[in-house]
Amino acid sequence: MCYNFDLETTYMNYPTKVKRCPICKQGWVQIVKEISSGQIYLCCSECDAEWADPSTINENNCLQFNTYGEYIVVSPDEIKAKSWGKYVLEEFLKRIHNGDDGLIRKVEINNMKEAIIIVSVMDFENSQSWINVKFTANNLKEFKIVQKQNFSNVVLSSGIKFKEIDGFCFLDFDPYSDEIDTVDDFRRSEVYVCCDEICFDILPYSE
Ligand SMILES: [Zn+2]
Repeated sequence: MCYNFDLETTYMNYPTKVKRCPICKQGWVQIVKEISSGQIYLCCSECDAEWADPSTINENNCLQFNTYGEYIVVSPDEIKAKSWGKYVLEEFLKRIHNGDDGLIRKVEINNMKEAIIIVSVMDFENSQSWINVKFTANNLKEFKIVQKQNFSNVVLSSGIKFKEIDGFCFLDFDPYSDEIDTVDDFRRSEVYVCCDEICFDILPYSE
């Protein structure tokens, strides 16, 4: 019940929006933290409707009004600790226009368990400045990275696609079409990861 979103700048405008509010259809359902208890939950920026779980936000399952008290913005680390990064990823991808015409800067696979992919993209909510985004895919299930000869960077010519299928997160840096729906669609990509959990950090731009 309090909007101290100045703190957001502290976290480099780290996204907290999950989806449009299904109740007032005006505000954003955002991840927030109750000041008194430190509990992380979700609250609409307009009508103050509250939810406990980002995986099922609809008009029938919001909490009783004022279940929580005053809240503040959550930090990226708190979102990661809850494994809620994937819930803010979809809205964030819209904010960067799916990373269209960005660049893949770095791909790192650690112990075949974790993938780190750093891209440079334009932030359309932040005067179209360039930023770097570091995606971390935890508990890799499958991936494909094809690097062609004589290319030091891969252009994101069709942007980035994200989807959760059967509990697995698919992140595609080379979608072959606008309609990517199935596992087979993702497997046609030359650069994609499939994992249990995905999170991302926003970093200052660098080459
Ligand atoms: Zn609302």
